[in-house]
Amino acid sequence: MSIEKFNVKEFFVYVLKACIIYGIISIGFSFIGTFLEGAESQDSPLENSGFNFEHLSSHVLWGVIVGFASVSLRYLMLAGVFPIIMDFDHLVGFVEIDAIARMTHSIPFAIIAPFLMMGILGKKDYMLGIISFALVFSHMSLDIFYGTGDFPIFAPFSSEIFYFYGYDWIGFQIIAIISVVIIVLYTRKIQNRKKSDIRNSRS
Ligand SMILES: [Zn+2]
Repeated sequence: MSIEKFNVKEFFVYVLKACIIYGIISIGFSFIGTFLEGAESQDSPLENSGFNFEHLSSHVLWGVIVGFASVSLRYLMLAGVFPIIMDFDHLVGFVEIDAIARMTHSIPFAIIAPFLMMGILGKKDYMLGIISFALVFSHMSLDIFYGTGDFPIFAPFSSEIFYFYGYDWIGFQIIAIISVVIIVLYTRKIQNRKKSDIRNSRS
């Protein structure tokens, strides 16, 4: 964990803001499914048997594994919460409109969410961006592990469902971890360059 000055209030305000915005983006994105071909009535999330405590806590654990790669407490925290927020796409089941199920379980969501998150919370917050991206893959990894790997992977551009199974979950979790590691190394490089620039300007 990085030993930067730790401000508890700032920490929780940041985490809360990030979670609320990720939630709004997830729900907003899910409702796009209403307008897509193949939209159909959805089960209420409460009747959905896959929606239970064990499933949710496994999502948290799976996300936290990815979060550790960020070597930062705030992103570790987000990595634990984002996978649960992603399943807000089940909320379309509460309103009686036709929709495409599991809209957030898609690559376009994984790409769009980081840009929106960074646009709203901080353009240079690369770690926030990559956590928003990686956790989609980590979430899908666990769903595949549980045998529910049927995703509209190109939604909203296509509502076709793709099926992932067997050991596919490994690939998804590896994508998540590696993408976080790449950004950690990149941000370290930027910081080191800044430090050496400061040193050079002093000498
Ligand atoms: Zn899910």
